[in-house]
Parts: sequence; structure tokens; C-alpha cells
Amino acid sequence: AKAYGRGRAQLFNPTLDAEARTLAQLLADLRQALVRGEFVAHYQPRVNAGDGRITSAEALIRWHHPQRGLLFPDAFIAVAESYGLIAPIGRWILDAACQQMAQWRREGIDIARVSVNVSAVQFESGELVGQVQNALERHAVPPATLELEITESLLVDENDALFAQLTALRDMGVTLALDDFGTGYSSMAALRKLPIDVMKIDRSFVIDLETDASALPAVRAIVALAQASHLHLVAEGVETETQARMLRELGCHELQGYLYSRPVEPSKFLQLPGLRHGA
Ligand code: C2E
Ligand code: CA
Ligand code: CA
Ligand code: CA
Repeated sequence: AKAYGRGRAQLFNPTLDAEARTLAQLLADLRQALVRGEFVAHYQPRVNAGDGRITSAEALIRWHHPQRGLLFPDAFIAVAESYGLIAPIGRWILDAACQQMAQWRREGIDIARVSVNVSAVQFESGELVGQVQNALERHAVPPATLELEITESLLVDENDALFAQLTALRDMGVTLALDDFGTGYSSMAALRKLPIDVMKIDRSFVIDLETDASALPAVRAIVALAQASHLHLVAEGVETETQARMLRELGCHELQGYLYSRPVEPSKFLQLPGLRHGA
């Protein structure tokens, strides 16, 4: 327990000790996972709200744990962020997504972009821009085919170093998306200054659309904000036809959610309806 900075008084608390051992095990397993190649990327399609065609894919990381089976990001991303492992994991998923994009392009799959989630912690090391450049070059994919999703929480404190990195990525030609929009506190002023191209309405608004009368004006306000800021608007967590219709009528450009597909492994992604092959 000591090694993880718990106080002396807590050293003999059996519950905390068990927790610390679990954490130590998880960290050891995560390091092994990188070495043994246990991570996989699944892809969830984003569709054009008008014609239902697949426009892009969001890469979502999964972990084939040797004992625990398939683990979802909520089981390990936060720990990786707190204990210095998000940089190598972030590098892995960037590389995997660029490699996948290169393969789709070789196979004639008509998909505009692949998007990758980037944690706030990845901006702190200052290595992200270089990592992105390396991944793009290694797989020879055009920067315009890569999108990075950053969360609104990143923007809470205005930060020159962060702004410089976002600008460098944007100048490189990479697309920047603001994920989980509406859950944080972005002001119109902050939004207008940000070098972003895409806004993703958080799933919580989409869930409430059919049931909660206050959700509709909230989504209308977000749509107006996106339009005023010239941002491309994506709604996530779309599960029903009614939600899809409402979001389309409200003016969302793209839709993403279980209605179209869960995140799937690449071989299944190829079989999704709405994906254009050939060329
Ligand atoms: P997110 O970026 O907001 O991703 C959307 C999450 O909602 C995904 O969960 C996705 O599977 C799920 N989802 C998509 N459509 C629906 C729907 O219609 N209904 C419901 N109920 N859920 C839907 P997942 O894959 O478990 O990822 C959870 C979070 O973990 C992500 O939230 C993202 O913040 C983080 N994450 C995932 N992959 C990565 C990664 O490679 N790097 C980093 N830093 N974070 C990641
Ligand atoms: Ca995301
Ligand atoms: Ca999201
Ligand atoms: Ca999220």
C-alpha cells in the first residue's frame, strides 16, 4: 500500500490494502498489455444524417485481458491516465487507427475519416503533436483523414500550451472535434477562439430528447451555437429512429450510436450497411 502513497494510518486497513494490490496488479497488467499486444481497436460508424451513409469511424480501445477477458475503457483508461500509462496507450491507438485507415484506403473503402479519443493528460507531456505526425507518416495517411476527439473538460482553464498544440495539429491538417459537448462549461467566447471543426453533442441530451421536454430547447441551443461557430455537428448515443429523426430535423449533420452499430472489430465494420466499397 505504501508504494501508492496511502497514508500511514491507512496502512493496516485491509480493504485499502486489497485495493492497492488490485491497483498494482492492474498497472502491472497494463504494462504487459502494451508489450504483449493485448489492446484492440473497435470502430463505431458515424453516418450522414441525410442519407445514412457511413462517413467516418470512431476508434474505441478494448483490452483482451489474459485472465479477465474483454475489458472496456472504463476499466482501465482513468487508471492509465493517473499512473503515467496513457502516453504509450495513446500512441498505440493512434498508430492502430492510422494503420486501419491506410488499410481501408488500400481496399477502396470510401470513408472520410477515422477519429481517435485523446485524453487531456496526453497534452501535458507535449509529445502528442509528434506522436500524431509519426503515426500519419508511418502509415502514409493524409492528415485530413484523422480526427482527434478532445473533451470539453480540457478547456476549463485557458492554457497557452494546449492552444499551441491544438493549433499545430490543426495546421497539420488534422480535424479536431469537441467530444461530450454540453457536459462542461465552454462559453461562446472560449468556443469561438478554439481551433476546432466538429462538435459532438453528448449522449445525455440525446437520451432525454424523447422523454424530457427541457432537452429539446437545450439541443436547439447547442445547434445554434454550432451554427454560429461554423462547426460540423455530430450527435452521439443515437439509439432510436425517433431520436434520429428529431436530431436530423434539428440540424445535426452526422449521427452515431447503437441504432447504426455498436463499436465492432474491423472485419465486422466492413460488412456494415451504409459503407461504400469499390473505387
Ligand atoms: P466516448 O468517447 O464518449 O465514446 C462513446 C462511448 O459511448 C463508447 O463507449 C461507445 O461504445 C458508447 N456508445 C456509442 N453509441 C452508444 C449508444 O447508442 N448508446 C450507449 N449507451 N452507448 C453508446 P466505450 O467504448 O466504452 O468508451 C467509453 C469512453 O472511454 C469513451 O467515451 C472515451 O472517453 C474513452 N475511450 C475509449 N477509447 C479511448 C481511447 O482510445 N483513448 C482514450 N483516451 N479514451 C478512450
Ligand atoms: Ca469520443
Ligand atoms: Ca462522447
Ligand atoms: Ca466520454
